[in-house]
Amino acid sequence: MIGLTVLGATGSIGASTLEVAALHPDRFAVRALTASTQWQRLAELCSRHRPKYAVLMDDDAAEQLRSRLADAGLGTEVLCGSEGLCRAATLEDVECVMAAIVGAAGLDATLAAARAGKRVLLANKEALVMAGPLFMHTVQRSGATLLPVDSEHNAVFQCMPEGYRTGGAAPGVEQIMLTASGGPFREWPLARLDAASPEQAVAHPNWVMGRKISVDSATMMNKGLEVIEACLLFGVEPAAVKVVIHPQSVIHSLVRYRDGSVLAQLGQPDMRTPIAHALAWPERIDSGVEPLDLIETGKLEFEAPDPRRYPCLELAYQAAAAGGTAPAHLNAANEVAVAAFLRGKARFTDIAVAVEQVLQALPPEPAEDLETIRAADRRARELAARAVVSKRRGAR
Ligand code: NAD
Ligand code: MG
Repeated sequence: MIGLTVLGATGSIGASTLEVAALHPDRFAVRALTASTQWQRLAELCSRHRPKYAVLMDDDAAEQLRSRLADAGLGTEVLCGSEGLCRAATLEDVECVMAAIVGAAGLDATLAAARAGKRVLLANKEALVMAGPLFMHTVQRSGATLLPVDSEHNAVFQCMPEGYRTGGAAPGVEQIMLTASGGPFREWPLARLDAASPEQAVAHPNWVMGRKISVDSATMMNKGLEVIEACLLFGVEPAAVKVVIHPQSVIHSLVRYRDGSVLAQLGQPDMRTPIAHALAWPERIDSGVEPLDLIETGKLEFEAPDPRRYPCLELAYQAAAAGGTAPAHLNAANEVAVAAFLRGKARFTDIAVAVEQVLQALPPEPAEDLETIRAADRRARELAARAVVSKRRGAR
């Protein structure tokens, strides 16, 4: 039995992970589930998966969950706060940790899992983007296995030379091509983007995802974070990572080799496929996903991203090239601006403007320790909050 912790169990990736694990009860035993404050949803998951531990970030929510689980006669112990998260990520009888918390909030627990030498299934790209080289060194030192769940990186990993491990060199690989759907505003007139609403931004054409990553897909900051993620996971420079818009989201990414061969991974746009791949690697298990029907798909299209429509993509390339704390600044500013947009406090187009202002205001520093990274994250959040407020005043 493989002991499994799901960090961010109530989210979109968390739900898909538990669905795949439930198809293989003889293979996976769920030991710990975590969420931010959604205790009712976590209570349901506890009765279905019977973990030893459940973790919430809020005392009141944890108390509610405790009494609900006691009423149901479940033996799950409820922990609280970031200590609880790190405990869940490092349990002795857990081999496999799904890192599916959204944003910088997932950094400590994901890093703890890596430090403890677990098999880390990485969905929480923001943690890797923030802590980049520190994260990868931690993985190397502890002997942890880092497997990408992000569909593009999982696809690239599947197209890498046999025996490839993340962080290592990939002989013969010349370019990584990340595909992007282009999001819901791919065909909108540019002048209308100012007026895009949160509901329109989260209505992704192909994937059903959490709200933050859905907005990131609409701005293509998601692809920008993924460029940085790819540089770290596959040990390449930003110039070797190319982004291609592919509206059908059937090719999940590609690798071009020196001899001209281009390998791609295809499948339904359903996260259960990369999740099942990472859960069972190097074996293959059933994911519950329908087979891909290419005749029904009909055609596969490709286009270059328009920098005027997706300024966040270029900002991410800049942060990747600058290195040090720049990716942490980029990520923090984006989290703040996206949250403001989702609360109706900023326009869609303010997101890129706020991120750009923060990158310009904060010179990157070497990011060798966690304290420096946390300080960079805090500083960028403060500046981004101010940038968003001043934009709002300007708009009135
Ligand atoms: P989501 O919003 O659906 O779920 C987020 C989870 O994190 C929830 O369980 C929530 O309770 C928990 N959480 C939120 N804030 C927290 C905090 N402060 N402390 C502790 N826990 C907290 O998000 P999602 O779409 O499942 O995405 C999760 C991660 O996976 C993100 O980093 C995203 O970029 C990445 N990812 C998602 C998809 C997808 O298809 N949804 C694809 C690729 C990568
Ligand atoms: Mg992705």
